[in-house]
Amino acid sequence: MKKRVRLEFPRETLLVEIERYCSFPDCRWRNFVGLTKSEAIEYRGFDCAKCERWNDDTADPVEFPESWRDELLLSRDNLASN
Ligand SMILES: [Zn+2]
Repeated sequence: MKKRVRLEFPRETLLVEIERYCSFPDCRWRNFVGLTKSEAIEYRGFDCAKCERWNDDTADPVEFPESWRDELLLSRDNLASN
């Protein structure tokens, strides 16, 4: 069996890649944004890899592993109540 393990602790997901298209009509570049759990919690957008413009964005907890979701939801609730 061929395994693709990029990180030291394969049992825990440390980095998740989400797929996002650049929001600018003249670009529409497909970006893959790699996020750790703490980055996922604070995720507010990304710099396009092609045109280097900032894209405001949010990430839905369902895009991340189940083991992250409680924390993501909790922190989102905390942010919302501030
Ligand atoms: Zn772009």
